[in-house]
Amino acid sequence: MVAGLIVGSLINSFAHDIRFVQDYLVGGLFHVVGSMFISMLKMLVVPLVTFSLICGVCGLGDISKLGRVGGKAFALFMITTALAITLAISIASFFAPGEGFEIFQTGTGTFIPPVAPPLTQVFIDLIPSNPIAAFAEGNMLQIIFFTILFAVCLLMIGKPGEAIINAAEKLNMVMMEVVNVVMYIAPVGVFALMAKTFSLQGLDMILPMLSYVAVLVAALLLHVTGTLMLLLRLLGRVNPLTFLKKMRTAQIFAFSTSSSNATIPVTLRSVEKRLGVDNSTASFIVPFGATINMDGTAIMQGVATVFIANVYGIDLSLGSYLTVIGMAVLASIGTAGVPGVGLIMLAMVFDQVGLPVEGIALILGVDRLLDMIRTAVNITGDAVVSTIVARSEDAISLDTFNDPDAGQVEEVHLPHQQPTASEQA
Ligand code: ASP
Repeated sequence: MVAGLIVGSLINSFAHDIRFVQDYLVGGLFHVVGSMFISMLKMLVVPLVTFSLICGVCGLGDISKLGRVGGKAFALFMITTALAITLAISIASFFAPGEGFEIFQTGTGTFIPPVAPPLTQVFIDLIPSNPIAAFAEGNMLQIIFFTILFAVCLLMIGKPGEAIINAAEKLNMVMMEVVNVVMYIAPVGVFALMAKTFSLQGLDMILPMLSYVAVLVAALLLHVTGTLMLLLRLLGRVNPLTFLKKMRTAQIFAFSTSSSNATIPVTLRSVEKRLGVDNSTASFIVPFGATINMDGTAIMQGVATVFIANVYGIDLSLGSYLTVIGMAVLASIGTAGVPGVGLIMLAMVFDQVGLPVEGIALILGVDRLLDMIRTAVNITGDAVVSTIVARSEDAISLDTFNDPDAGQVEEVHLPHQQPTASEQA
């Protein structure tokens, strides 16, 4: 990751007008390898979530637990998001980024917000009218809904369902092994993604936006190391430092791909194998969280609201801030499954409190880089909630959690071909 960052920044500073470098290295090698790597991660998401969730539900023991685990996770998602944005608004109000900012400084273009579906539609869309389409499109909430129903009914039919449960367990093992293989080759993919991003996005455009970027990054860091770790300590009663160490790989994946969704395989693997959370809890909370829990994105909305209000000299009332908090929590559910979600949510929030939506154009230039950081925060939130819920359900192995080497990706052992019967003869 660091090597990619350095190479990318060097290209941006010294070689951005050399055609060969741009065409063959940035637009060629880095682009191809990086895109292949992201596709490879996305390729794992649907089969892994499906098989893992079937195993998770069937391994629950008591089906009534499902509602309890879901309810706790949902409540924690909402609470952490509300805390995140409250923290962001408080810090941003204190440092007042954007005051005295001249709009012409950045000279960015216009912003046309994509349309988000109304919240009511989100509930209707929970149920896939065609499950095959849901799987084909990777619609996470629909996949979760159908798979849980399917798994519960597998349990209900009893003995005839056992063979399918067994098969799902084996398929889950295979998919976890595919994750291992992808993680083994990941350094190359991460390098390519970082090198490409940083050769296209020089760090110099941060300068005019420094107050916004600095306050946002500070709020993101404070949420991860403060709020989330405090919750983990108080409610999860586990060591936050161990947690952070073990989540580092998943955070790097989130950072370099900027997508919670593409990171699901790695988050799931880290939460189960490194933190020791039981599959019955993790298989449900991780994909659910990747879709509706976005603490980092909420923080961006809080800071952006204060920043744009300051830039345009608009005084927001306490009521407006409370609306922003409520909206951000709802918007994180409402935009489930929509790509480029952060800015759509922001447009919804601005609309609600009467801030100029075109103000978003100002922060577009630096958004690509900030998206990387907030995605890492988003998936950390999912893992924190998984750990807290698992702890309350006694569904975590503390031995695994405390073992520094548990679940490390070491080497991929290729199987040796067995001699065939005729060769043996
Ligand atoms: N990229 C973020 C994620 O996938 C969402 C966003 O803030 O745009 O978690």
